[in-house]
Amino acid sequence: MRFVKPSEIKNQFASDNYAPVCSEVWEALTAVNSGYANSYGDDPWTGRACDLLREFFETDCQVFFVFNGTAANSLSLASLCQSYHSIIAHELAHVETDECGAPEFFSNGTKLLLVPGEHGKVDLDAVAHTVTRRSDIHYPKPRVLSLTQATELGTVYTPEELQALRETARRFDLRIHMDGARFANALASLRVAPKELTWQAGVDVLTFGGTKAGMAIGEAVVFFDLKLAQEFAYRCKQAGQLASKMRYLSAAWIPLLQDGVMLRHARHANAMATLLAERLSRHPQVEVMHPVEANAVFVRMPEAMLESLQAQGWYFYTFIGSGEARLMCSWATREEDVGELVSAVESWNGAD
Ligand SMILES: *Cc1c(COP(=O)(O)O)cnc(C)c1O
Repeated sequence: MRFVKPSEIKNQFASDNYAPVCSEVWEALTAVNSGYANSYGDDPWTGRACDLLREFFETDCQVFFVFNGTAANSLSLASLCQSYHSIIAHELAHVETDECGAPEFFSNGTKLLLVPGEHGKVDLDAVAHTVTRRSDIHYPKPRVLSLTQATELGTVYTPEELQALRETARRFDLRIHMDGARFANALASLRVAPKELTWQAGVDVLTFGGTKAGMAIGEAVVFFDLKLAQEFAYRCKQAGQLASKMRYLSAAWIPLLQDGVMLRHARHANAMATLLAERLSRHPQVEVMHPVEANAVFVRMPEAMLESLQAQGWYFYTFIGSGEARLMCSWATREEDVGELVSAVESWNGAD
């Protein structure tokens, strides 16, 4: 991607990680930034953040704070597998397309087996077929089903869909990993209790995204099966994912988990995406490609329109999915930003 000075980036819809840190987190970090505290997680804020996560999920889960999603996914997947196992994931899953082979690397070679599925959700029959098509010793033994919630295409798995997947996973003795880089958006969209999308749906480990939800840095790895968390701390340390000044990673969770702040931000991001989709879909040459259930809108538009928008300085990705434009909203997206992009689309006259 070409380098752009921050001042040149106007109303972008590239990603939710282009957004700044929300004020609640910034204030919490300022508040912890005083005096000495024990390092490596032995501080009061880390304990408090873990307790809040346990309250949030209404269960006794084990929590680890790491720097980013690639590490959270790779290390948690590695903890579920032996190197001769395999992980079933959607063909567009971040673990496959955007982690530079880190899941395979950290698991010493556990293979990803990809399955198709409409709108970014794994197809149940394809999962079953992938497990049953071979049972001999030459095939890497399927061990984990990895699901992304919200998906890479901006859709969500409903609790009912998760229960069906859980049945399939149980039948084939698969553990369930959930990539929740945008878990907050899924929760806000489905309006159910966090437990319904996680341990009550058979999820063994969740990577809970903080960065895209309004933090500066950080994701939480949440183990619902406590046995799987044994020795996970060593994995984090060995992979360079144990923060020594841990309070700055963990304290950011505290304001987000209190008073529904994270959900409020996620609801806003989702609402902006819904508004954007609704307004863009009125244009005869713009087609919304997937149901807008979280904070992303995927649109197909004429190539010349796309180029014209980019030439005017609009930022969005076109490499996810099958070449359409992905317009991602965040907690910081304003209604005016949506309006300006819609105006730019409406004023395109097809000549340039
Ligand atoms: C952003 C994202 C991640 C995390 O990516 P990092 O850049 O490693 O923090 C993981 N999964 C999905 C689906 C994502 O969108």
